[in-house]
Amino acid sequence: MLIPLALLFGCSDPPPPPVRPPVYLIVIDTLRADALRCYGGKRPTPALERFAANAVLFEHCFAPSSWTVPSVASIWTGLYPFHHGTIRGLAVDGRVVSQQELSAGYTTIAEMFKSAGYATFGVSANGHIARKYGFAQGFDMFDSGDFADKTTVAKNWNRISRPVTDAQTVEQPTFVMMFFFDPHHPYTPKEPYIGRYRPDWKKLGEPLVKQSMPDLVVDGYFKQHPKAIDVARAMYDSEVASLDAYLGELLPNLPSYDEAWVLVLADHGESFGENGAMIHGNNLGQPEVHVPLMIKLPRDQYGGTRVATPVSLVDIMPTLAALITPVEPPHMDGVSLLPLLAGQSLPPRTLFLHVNLTRVNERAMVQWPFKIIRLMDQPLRVFDLAADPAELRNLAPQQSDRLPGWERTLVLGTRAAVLNPPHLIAGEMPAEGREQLKNLGYLQ
Ligand SMILES: [Zn+2]
Repeated sequence: MLIPLALLFGCSDPPPPPVRPPVYLIVIDTLRADALRCYGGKRPTPALERFAANAVLFEHCFAPSSWTVPSVASIWTGLYPFHHGTIRGLAVDGRVVSQQELSAGYTTIAEMFKSAGYATFGVSANGHIARKYGFAQGFDMFDSGDFADKTTVAKNWNRISRPVTDAQTVEQPTFVMMFFFDPHHPYTPKEPYIGRYRPDWKKLGEPLVKQSMPDLVVDGYFKQHPKAIDVARAMYDSEVASLDAYLGELLPNLPSYDEAWVLVLADHGESFGENGAMIHGNNLGQPEVHVPLMIKLPRDQYGGTRVATPVSLVDIMPTLAALITPVEPPHMDGVSLLPLLAGQSLPPRTLFLHVNLTRVNERAMVQWPFKIIRLMDQPLRVFDLAADPAELRNLAPQQSDRLPGWERTLVLGTRAAVLNPPHLIAGEMPAEGREQLKNLGYLQ
């Protein structure tokens, strides 16, 4: 039965009974917003365009970080990276060999669903989002492949979908998380798309298939061959198109799809030469942090709505908490987006972003339309995202009166305050895992 959203709002006493629709959380690794036509992309992504037509689309969603681990931990907890603390790899003798583990002290999104009576299922094709790193907390069943493509998700999904169907048969609601690794590098050119986009891709793109992208970046391949950036983008877009076609088959066939809440989002974006960067985890520029967020409600309620209010991935868990449980959720940095879905507004707020890897420590905040960025101890940079979404004009000189206030807000707002410090993974990873992380750009 469709529950009008109006019942979900306000502080009526007694609280409204919880609604417990099926919820599907579809996370796509490395999908920058403008890879999708519905976000202004130049190449077609028809399945997700159809999905967007039946969903509420958030035009300005910010990933709280620009690589997988801190960003997904923010989705899992509703907290910013400097509050959940799961932000770093583990250095041993100056070399990163593993990653921080999400503490068991937090209530995760799957634990929240479980305590609300849901059966919980997760399939991940990203080796970072694995049980050994704490990301399976709260899932009744959880499968993770090690940096694999969508076929792994499909295989694992096929294995667990029977219990999903069975669970729904006995009227237990289900929460399903699916994490797709495509289109993360290495970019595998996918036909027929690459043939349409760049039939000449092999000339400059073959090294991208044969060598690791981080090595190519460090070795200056894209500086020597600037035209290879466009080829890389075409290869990436071909992976996006291939995944799009797959999702076009998968999504409408999910159990109880019409009655379900289906969220499609990305953990971070990808650079293609902007700010002199390639791939991700480099900075907090828009190519790496502007991500898609689309929410399909039961029976496509509010389908086709576009929301201009800026939001963050830290809002996912509070939104779903407000949906499924009348109980006050644990403290979170994000807020429920349910009012925005129904055309209401939220009080203005500041969104924060943070990346701290071996080569970069950058903080940023968004007070729409302004985005304020600090790299290391360099002066603040200020951009007007409404007028200059590509962040080409630093407005700091013109906004000098406001800089001290922004500085204070950024320092105080991103101050580390970690309630449950992450565990470090003891010991060395096996050589094979180390090599995989190195090839993915997280090791030096
Ligand atoms: Zn990622």
